[in-house]
Amino acid sequence: MSVAQAFDDDEGLWGRIDAWLHALRLPGAAARCRSLAQEIGAGEESLRFLEGVLAAELESRETRRYQRNLRAARFPVVKELGGFDFAAVPSLPKTRVDELATGRFVTAHECVILVGNPGTGKTHVLIGLGMEAIRKGFRVRFVTAAALVNELLLARAELRVPKLLRFYGTFDLVLVDELGYVPFSREAAQLLFEFFSDRYETRATALTTNLPFAQWTQVFGDETMTVALLDRLTHRSHVLLLNGESYRLKESRRRASTKDIDPRPPEGEGKPT
Ligand code: ADP
Ligand code: MG
Repeated sequence: MSVAQAFDDDEGLWGRIDAWLHALRLPGAAARCRSLAQEIGAGEESLRFLEGVLAAELESRETRRYQRNLRAARFPVVKELGGFDFAAVPSLPKTRVDELATGRFVTAHECVILVGNPGTGKTHVLIGLGMEAIRKGFRVRFVTAAALVNELLLARAELRVPKLLRFYGTFDLVLVDELGYVPFSREAAQLLFEFFSDRYETRATALTTNLPFAQWTQVFGDETMTVALLDRLTHRSHVLLLNGESYRLKESRRRASTKDIDPRPPEGEGKPT
């Protein structure tokens, strides 16, 4: 009995080789693999070698995909959830963010809305969630609301709004930062409405805003449209509140006060000669 046959019993190894081959999209090789191994009487060593080669290829593909998706996301800066101080934002339970970091909301085509004052860490959490989604293999794109509006207006002028929506449709998760900072023209509000409607229940979206929902009409102008937009955005969505003091302000104040009481002399001064 050849080792290959003996390995028929070892579903573990064959199972893994089969899984690697499918993950690498090599169904033809997967279909013939066992019979080929039997024909040449492949031993355990050969099978382990094959398993290693396939695992190496899969790993290198995943690394390249991660790097490609990271570039495609166009994050303005890289922020990690690991570097977020949850103690500073008691209104934001870490468990809720951890749940979102699993990426299940992306698969379920849900919405995440981060609401809070400036400097409370909305963009940090937004990008952190994007980074986690990329690690899970999702395609992610970051855009500010202002830039998105400009892209949409330009596309409208060039009669290619559907093409732009299709482009955004290639991303599993779009992160829209800073909705509400600048009021939109009626046309811009309509285009944004079209953008969010297009993704509704077919793709995931996460956004940040400094505006409580009650004030959205001020930015979108039209009341009916705002209600319809909020309806789409908040249906099956995760609304996270980040309120409190600006982290930036708190940090700079902390730095300033530690400087005041820091007994060490400034760099280069008072060093023993
Ligand atoms: P927002 O988008 O709400 O205005 P940011 O996410 O841009 O705020 O946060 C401002 C700066 O403070 C960023 O550099 C961010 O990394 C940092 N920051 C804010 N909140 C926290 C926090 N809780 N833990 C760590 N860094 C934070
Ligand atoms: Mg921000």
